[in-house]
Amino acid sequence: MGVLKVLFLDDIPDDCTCAVCHEVLENPREFSRCQHAFCEGCILPWLESHDSCPTCRAPVTSSDLRHLHRIWREKLYQLLMRCEFHDAGCDVTLPLKKRDAHIEECEFVTVVCPNKPCAVRLPRAEMPDHTEICQHRLVSCNKGCEMEISYGLMGEHNCIRALRHEVNNLHKEQQNLLKALKKDRDERLKLEKFVHDQACAMEDLADLIESLTTALFLIVPIVVFEIEQWFDIVLDRFGALFFGTGAGILVLEWNGDFFKLPYSLLRL
Ligand SMILES: [Zn+2]
Ligand SMILES: [Zn+2]
Ligand SMILES: [Zn+2]
Ligand SMILES: [Zn+2]
Ligand SMILES: [Zn+2]
Repeated sequence: MGVLKVLFLDDIPDDCTCAVCHEVLENPREFSRCQHAFCEGCILPWLESHDSCPTCRAPVTSSDLRHLHRIWREKLYQLLMRCEFHDAGCDVTLPLKKRDAHIEECEFVTVVCPNKPCAVRLPRAEMPDHTEICQHRLVSCNKGCEMEISYGLMGEHNCIRALRHEVNNLHKEQQNLLKALKKDRDERLKLEKFVHDQACAMEDLADLIESLTTALFLIVPIVVFEIEQWFDIVLDRFGALFFGTGAGILVLEWNGDFFKLPYSLLRL
């Protein structure tokens, strides 16, 4: 919903009007395709049920929306208007650009009493008088306990009962804190145990690798020895042929099959 046209002292150019609400553009967004502009609060709901520009019907989506061009925005923001609380007594006139800042401090804007649960609503300028006598304002107990209590409840206030209540609350808070601390500690212990178990597993793995390496050193010479034996048998009994490959590999042909062997093995 835009800013009400009736508030403006200037004539409103057509391109500063929203085609959805017919008021002056508020938080304006324009479509990059057709450059038609609308209030953000008007065009987003429109796009939930339409896929075209309300003015020219061009196909559009919310990703085609962008902020109004700087020059256009400046023209819009310079439009002179009255404060929307002028009926309540505010006689301030200002450019649209300063509207939000003025509303923040306008003395005629209705505000709610800050003392919970007071629901009194008054113009901002009258609120200080109310809060001074508000039944819900906090006052310090003058019967001895100095606790802060809602003024309206002071008549039925009993220092001992209130303090007991306070102590009970503190006790509950302390219990909750202890529970949280215990949970923290349990989790830390769990984590420490996990880290310890991982370290032990790593140590076991290192031991295993070491014993495997040792075993390998014992096995390799036996394997080499056996291959040498096998080679001798092949050479002696079957008169196999060797072909040198020049790359430290020997190819042994026997019975139509070829065996590749590193040359170094033969010299062991
Ligand atoms: Zn609008
Ligand atoms: Zn359009
Ligand atoms: Zn005002
Ligand atoms: Zn109040
Ligand atoms: Zn008291």
